[in-house]
Amino acid sequence: MYNISSIRKDFPILSRTVYGKPLVYLDNAATTQKPLCVLDAMRDEYLNVNANVHRGVHWMSQQATDLHEAARETVRRFINARSTAEVVFTRGTTEGINLVASSFVEGFMKEGDEVIVSAVEHHSNIVPWQILEKRRGIVLKVIPMNDEGVLDLPAFEQLITDRTKLVSVSHVSNVMGTINPVREIIRIAHEHGLPVMLDGAQSVPHFKVDVQELDCEFLAFSGHKIYGPTGIGVLYGKKEWLDKLPPYQGGGEMIETVSFSGTTFERPPLKFEAGTPDYVATHGLATAIDYVTNLGMDNIQQHEQELTRYAIEQMREIPDIRFFGISESEIAGNVAPHDAVVSFLIGDIHPMDLGTLLDQLGIAVRTGHHCAQPLMERFNILGTVRASFALYNTKEEIDALVAGIQRVVKMF
Ligand code: PLP
Repeated sequence: MYNISSIRKDFPILSRTVYGKPLVYLDNAATTQKPLCVLDAMRDEYLNVNANVHRGVHWMSQQATDLHEAARETVRRFINARSTAEVVFTRGTTEGINLVASSFVEGFMKEGDEVIVSAVEHHSNIVPWQILEKRRGIVLKVIPMNDEGVLDLPAFEQLITDRTKLVSVSHVSNVMGTINPVREIIRIAHEHGLPVMLDGAQSVPHFKVDVQELDCEFLAFSGHKIYGPTGIGVLYGKKEWLDKLPPYQGGGEMIETVSFSGTTFERPPLKFEAGTPDYVATHGLATAIDYVTNLGMDNIQQHEQELTRYAIEQMREIPDIRFFGISESEIAGNVAPHDAVVSFLIGDIHPMDLGTLLDQLGIAVRTGHHCAQPLMERFNILGTVRASFALYNTKEEIDALVAGIQRVVKMF
């Protein structure tokens, strides 16, 4: 049973007020709120078993290590990786992508070799590659999209040459909520012998993501977008790839032996986890994953899809509204590959004005380029207003958003 009022009690922050008005938090694509169980788990660890992991023979260190490694197993089960060796803890999606970009280019690419990304990427799947374009002479190619935000698969296939070495695309667009055709992208890439990295920042929190079923080589996601703490994330990598990728950073934890004549590295995942990991955050992340697993990812997806459909239904009545990444048929009420995000503009009202005035009403939405400036350029706009939904949002909150927008529109 999906009992929204009892779920909301797990997130005390949702009942706070802002400017004396009830908070309506619709900026979940940026970060999600944390349930009490996550906060309690982390507090409890600091209060009772705090010790550095993997190094101590003493009791507390072993307890902390057990919690940390149990968290790895929780993540493995959640994304259905074959083994915990395939689960690398990172600081978030950004670090996961930077890790693969840096190690993959170092290990497997020469000047003139190509990486393919898509037109809808977050900056974190653009800029790391651009840095390597400058430093290592690799070439970045971009899968184009149509006006409804759908990636052009025939164009993708035509981009592939014998210099292409990796495809790196987002699973779900953070700006539009469009679910990219990653199954087809992976199939096409594999037909050409290419590995694929998925940016799962906006997919893993919203529906079941099974890495074996998708058959992607890498998947990165962030803990804070799935009700876990900030500063922790996951990079999944197929073992055969993690085995052969060179390390990303050097330091403690990631070595087998060190001498001034040379160093040997640990096996994955530790090879990629230099330094003290945020072991309290991994425990927090595992607690968040247990929380969503208990609710059921399918139930969460259904709830969020209902909210998204309801939001589009209510908002399409607003004069001069322009949606981004939502097809005509979805606006008309048909189901479409779209997830938990509604991005829009109204007439020529600046998105920042709309966002600021909604904020005065206690409604938190995102405005601006959403770290996807090339996508804004593609639409020839400066930014959008984005309402993004989570497992705890309600139709009443969408009603508040629509009423807020209508109030603001009257001011112009
Ligand atoms: N990729 C996508 C699609 C995102 O939406 C985000 C964050 O908004 C990121 C990557 C970066 O995530 P983080 O800042 O947690 O590393």
